[in-house]
Parts: sequence; structure tokens; C-alpha cells
Amino acid sequence: MVTTSSGTQMLDYLGLSELFTPEEREIQRSSRRFLDDVALPYIGQWWEEGSFPTHLIRRFGEMGFLGPTIPAEYGGAGVSSAAYGLIAYELERVDSGLRSFCSVQSSLVMYPIYAFGSEEQKREYLPKLATGELVGCFGLTEPDGGSDPDGNMKTRARKDGDGYVLTGTKMWITNGNLAHIAIVWAKDDGGVVRGFIVPTDTPGFKANEVRHKASLRASVTSELVLEDVRVPASAVLPGVKGLKGPLSCLTQARFGIAWGALGALEAVYTEALAFSQTRTTFGKPIGSRQLVQEKLVRMLSDHTKGLLVAWRLAQLKDAGKLRPQQVSLGKRDNVRAALNAARSAREILGGSGITLEYHSIRHMLNLETVDTYEGTHDIHTLILGRDITGLNALE
Ligand SMILES: Cc1cc2nc3c(=O)[nH]c(=O)nc-3n(C[C@H](O)[C@H](O)[C@H](O)COP(=O)(O)OP(=O)(O)OC[C@H]3O[C@@H](n4cnc5c(N)ncnc54)[C@H](O)[C@@H]3O)c2cc1C
Repeated sequence: MVTTSSGTQMLDYLGLSELFTPEEREIQRSSRRFLDDVALPYIGQWWEEGSFPTHLIRRFGEMGFLGPTIPAEYGGAGVSSAAYGLIAYELERVDSGLRSFCSVQSSLVMYPIYAFGSEEQKREYLPKLATGELVGCFGLTEPDGGSDPDGNMKTRARKDGDGYVLTGTKMWITNGNLAHIAIVWAKDDGGVVRGFIVPTDTPGFKANEVRHKASLRASVTSELVLEDVRVPASAVLPGVKGLKGPLSCLTQARFGIAWGALGALEAVYTEALAFSQTRTTFGKPIGSRQLVQEKLVRMLSDHTKGLLVAWRLAQLKDAGKLRPQQVSLGKRDNVRAALNAARSAREILGGSGITLEYHSIRHMLNLETVDTYEGTHDIHTLILGRDITGLNALE
């Protein structure tokens, strides 16, 4: 019985990988081989130092991790949504920070340019973002709060001649200090949310890195300050107006998170299972104890159900039938399951569980961010509550 992963085989209690195509299975295996080689042995050190491995950005591009579902004519890999999900899974099995980098680049930067950009913008930016020659970030959240991006948006895009002048501050922006371009969401003179592609070397644009994080340390998080940043009219994403622009990007990213969290869950489950089989107290391995087995079974069970949900979301997405509320269910439940599993794994590891020599506490701390960003657990509860009752407890 396969209750743990082995080699490049993912944790898969119900044989769900039989639902994947041969190409999807190969993408999962090759992603794992690559990440086990270049990232897994070093991630604890990068996390402790608080550094993101920038030397891997081009390698991610070569592996097709950047914009996997973007068509090949724009430099993407043109693969299925499940393949994209499996890449997110393998990245987050190593660290949520690596997955966050790729999620932002793919779903929050390449997706809006692909979906809402002009043909010129697509040709100019997408191929370079796919190789990692350019890095992007996504500025929606502001210091006054992220859960209500419309109500709290103070960033303004004032029309000035042919172009716009952007003023405002964005907070908690992943990749902010690494980025060559920022997708900035701002309200125009009519109060309508618009998206802008802003080169980060434009005068008046500044990124300040957020330090002292106890979560997602192998990821760059920044404050973006825009002081009279002048951009031409050609910087506007012409294909979308209103909050549905950024929200549709978040739906893409949340889909990847629903998959990615399960990678972290696999990592902590596998670590706790192995530890429980060798750690002995009172003359027996702790894995023989009912209390420990209950924790392990809950992890495996949550992983298995989460994988089914993630796979179904991918099918619906490729069929063009996926509703944002369905993605909320996957993001909400899979991330909370992974967070609970990481806390249990840390507990099973005892004192060893508090060191970075093991992976569980790093995943646990990372998952606190993942549970919060891209819509907090509670906000997704309220989105789902509104969907099933027709009654709005969110606003
Ligand atoms: C490491 C990291 C990286 C991030 N990366 C990005 C990025 O790249 N780009 C970007 O734009 N943003 C990013 N974010 C921001 C993230 O999306 C926000 O933190 C998140 O949306 C929550 O917003 P907030 O932190 O302002 O909390 P708030 O919105 O102030 O919420 C605080 C608390 O109140 C609760 N709450 C809020 N409204 C309600 C309500 N109506 N009913 C009940 N409870 C409510 C929330 O659930 C939460 O518990 C990132 C955040 C972090 C921590």
C-alpha cells in the first residue's frame, strides 16, 4: 500500500494519478526530480537567511514553471490546468515561497497581460516573463486592508495628457523588490479600477522590502510606493475595467494554491510518518500509538480528498465551467487542511519539530501566510456562505 511518496511518485492513496494524462504525470515527476535536486537540500538555509533563490528564476523558466498554461506563441508551455496544478504542488512540497514566486509570475502577472492586454503588450512582455528574463509583481492590497480591495483602494490614476499619473501605496507585495514590472490596480478619475503595467524603474516608483517575517521567509515581500509615477496610455490593460479584473487574476492564483497546499501537506505527512516509525518510547515506535495514528490518518485523508477537489477544479477550469466560489472551496479547505497537518506533524516530531533541520515547522509557518493571502480563510467562508444561502454576510 502506498501511504507515502517514493522517488518521484507523489503521495496518492486512491491512485488518483490514473486520472492524469501521461503528459501531466511526466510533468509532476520531472518537476519533482528537478526541485529535489536544486532546491530541497538548500531550502532550510534560504528560509533561515530570509533569502529567495534568484539564481533559480531562469531555471524555473526553462522548466516551464512560468506561465505554464499560456499558449506557446507567447512563450508559455500551453499545458493543462492539472499540469499547472501539479507544478504548484511540487513547488510547494519544497516551500510555499517558491510556489508563491511562480504563482505571482504566472497567475497575477502573465494571466492579466494575456487575458486583458493588447496584442502589443502580450508580445512585449509574455515571452520574457516566461523565460524569467523579466520578473513581475501584482499590487492590489493596500496598507488599510486587503479583504476589501475596493473600499480600501486609495491608489489613484489621474489622467494627465495622453497618459496617467499614479499615486498610492501597496502593501505585502510578493516579488516587489525583484520585479521589473508591476501590475498596479488603481482607481481612475471616474473611480473605476484599472490595471497598469508599470516598469519598476519609472521615476517615483519605490519598493521597500518587508523584513522580520516569521513566515514565507524564502520569498520577497514588499511595500510599493508610487509618488506621481507617470505612465503612457499604452500602460493600461485595455481589456478590463472594474474589480473583476484583479479578482479574476486571484481566481487563477487561488486555483494554484488549492493544489500547492497539498504538496506542503504531503511533505509534512511524509516527514511525520517516517519519524513515527523510528522514534521509540516505552519500547515501541510512536507510530504504533493510537493517538499518533489518528493524526497521520487525518493528514492522509485530508490529502486524498483535497487532491480529488483539486483535480475536479482543473477539469472544470479547462471546460470553462469553473466558478470563483468553487475555487474558494478548494483554496479554503486545502490550505487549512495543510496547516492543520503541519501543526500535527510538528507535534509528532516533538522537540525535533521546532528545528529547521526538519521541514514541518517551516511549512507550518509558511502556511499561516497561505491561509491569509489570496483571501483569508474566513473571507472564503463568507464567499461560500453567500453562495449557498443567497444572503450576504461579507459586506
Ligand atoms: C506574505 C504575503 C504576501 C502577499 N502577497 C500579496 C501580493 O503579491 N499582492 C497583493 O496584492 N497582496 C498580497 N498579500 C496581501 C494579502 O492578500 C492580504 O494580507 C489579505 O488579503 C488580507 O488582508 P489584510 O492583511 O489587510 O487583512 P484585513 O483585510 O485587514 O483582515 C484582517 C482580519 O479581519 C478578517 N475580516 C476582514 N473582513 C471581514 C468580514 N467582512 N467579516 C469577518 N472577518 C473579516 C480577516 O479574515 C482577517 O482575519 C500578501 C500578504 C502576505 C502576508
